[in-house]
Amino acid sequence: MIQIFFLFFLQISFASPEISFTIDDPNLLETPLQTAAQRNQGILEAFAKNNIKAALFVCGMRIDSEEGKSALLEWDKQGHIIAHHSYSHLNLNQESMKVDQFSDDFNRAEKIISGYKHFKKIFRFPYLKEGETKKKRDAVRDFLKSKSYTHGHVTIDASDWFIEMKLKEALKKNPKADLTPYRDFYLDHIWERAQFYHELSLKVFNREIKHTLLLHHNLLNSLFLNDLMSMFQKKGWKLISAEEAFSDPAFKELPDIVPAGEGLIWAKAKESGRYQSLLRYPAEDGKYEEEKMKKLKL
Ligand SMILES: [Zn+2]
Repeated sequence: MIQIFFLFFLQISFASPEISFTIDDPNLLETPLQTAAQRNQGILEAFAKNNIKAALFVCGMRIDSEEGKSALLEWDKQGHIIAHHSYSHLNLNQESMKVDQFSDDFNRAEKIISGYKHFKKIFRFPYLKEGETKKKRDAVRDFLKSKSYTHGHVTIDASDWFIEMKLKEALKKNPKADLTPYRDFYLDHIWERAQFYHELSLKVFNREIKHTLLLHHNLLNSLFLNDLMSMFQKKGWKLISAEEAFSDPAFKELPDIVPAGEGLIWAKAKESGRYQSLLRYPAEDGKYEEEKMKKLKL
């Protein structure tokens, strides 16, 4: 009996949340401190250091050049998944956005990424918007199915892009600005969102699902992604590859809500009709972080 208890205890103490990393929108924009190539290297180095394979969600228009090709090739060479994030980053929830336009744009992007060795047919909707009507949502889902694509769901959504915007503003004013407070805010913010979505996932799925964190190809992550990965490890979370995360059956879910989209856990919670008080719309946005950053003079 004691032995059984001990085994049970062991199992519980080893059940740590699992998190993978997905990077959206690789681009060639110039920022303070680093060139586009240095930024690309900075992010890749964080993954190499931790021996973790990510998934890169490519938006074609941001990378449609020779320079763009070599940036993607670095990811491919290092074994990261190259996945689909449209050509023009169209918002499917806009009433004017038609299914034909969306699918033409999709096909245009596919030509750019399908030649890479680690290309996988996984699609992530721009802005995580999957259609404002049932009819449009289902037409695009049928289109993706006909092309044998799966959904690149996000389980942990956040606003790293907003923190990066503020960090760049500070650097433009003062190239020697102390970035530590931005780093700390970023780590706290991602940790806070991770806990929120993890707790909600336990309620909605009734089990531990594997997580996909959405981050962007930006200066903030080039500088601090390694710190973020260390933070998760220190908190007892296990870092896993994006491929492993996407193998979780949870990623086959297609929540029945309109407007469709947002993160997977958010959408499943919405679909259940049970957690209204926990669900804001949009699920994540810079506006939720702005006041907090202002208070810290960031
Ligand atoms: Zn995007």
